[in-house]
Amino acid sequence: KSKNRLNAAEYINGVLAGDRVLLSRAITIIESNLTSDKKLAKEIIQSILPNSGNSIRIGITGVPGVGKSTFIEAFGKLLISKGHKVAILSIDPSSQRSKGSILGDKTRMEDLANLDEAYIRPSASGDTLGGVANKTGETMFLCEAAGYDVILVETVGVGQSETAVHSMTDFFLLLMLAGAGDELQGIKKGIMEMADMLVINKADGDNVKMSQMAKRQYQNALHIFPLSESGWSPLVSTVSAIKNTGIEWVWDEIGNYKKLVYTNGYFVKNRNRQKIQWMYNNINDSLKELFYGSKDISNELTDLEEKVISSEISPVKAAENIIKKFKASF
Ligand code: GDP
Repeated sequence: KSKNRLNAAEYINGVLAGDRVLLSRAITIIESNLTSDKKLAKEIIQSILPNSGNSIRIGITGVPGVGKSTFIEAFGKLLISKGHKVAILSIDPSSQRSKGSILGDKTRMEDLANLDEAYIRPSASGDTLGGVANKTGETMFLCEAAGYDVILVETVGVGQSETAVHSMTDFFLLLMLAGAGDELQGIKKGIMEMADMLVINKADGDNVKMSQMAKRQYQNALHIFPLSESGWSPLVSTVSAIKNTGIEWVWDEIGNYKKLVYTNGYFVKNRNRQKIQWMYNNINDSLKELFYGSKDISNELTDLEEKVISSEISPVKAAENIIKKFKASF
């Protein structure tokens, strides 16, 4: 046991006081896979939960190179100038499989990182996206308890991670580029359907005309999507993250979204649903851990694999047998 280790109360008080060092250390506990840390993490989350939730959670996605970090830097600085405290959490799906990373180099968002009112944290890498998403969700609660009232959850648009981010945020923003051949190519319809706002970045210099054209095309494309449950009609905008134009409009519209969903009840409904989903995610993860973590089960599985290959037993029967054995172990 390290002598540096603090007890739960020390982490909790530190987080609630907005102490960035203790916030970072508490997040490290959350991300840890050690059994003792997991216990501590649960205690910390449970205690800070009543102080969480007081924020707007914004998901931001887009392909590599679209300008996510440049946009977030401009957006974050604007929000801070308006008196907000901004936490930026990045989910990098690439780090799950390899050590390589699309998002996680240290030179990103340098200006923002130097401000006291900004807190930037790349997600823990994990074995499963679900696991990473759960931990990012918990990290979000800690940041809120530490006084961050705008949470930006960023991810690279290369797979299932957008869905995970969408399921933990209030507002989903999709960054795009104009003029990359067919305007609708490369973006899966499902992701566009999740978006509350499409933001066409790099609308500057020679690219302004093309961006305006893309904007109209996307506006038309969005018309064919069914009305979303929130009652909000997704918007399309053009910005230049580098020239800092159009950024304030994005924030104003998020304000309008907030007003709408606070009034019509969707904000609370959506958050309640996310909390329930979070519980089920944890149940699913724990069940898997319990099952595959058991030595008996894993021995039996090795055995069963052989029998399934040799057709001694059918895959369905094998599954049934092992589940029976698992149930009997309680
Ligand atoms: P990310 O991979 O999505 O985080 O993208 P970056 O923010 O790293 O931006 C990728 C490249 O696009 C960089 O060279 C940026 O300087 C450039 N870029 C980002 N935003 C803009 C913009 O608004 N206009 C122009 N012209 N270039 C931009």
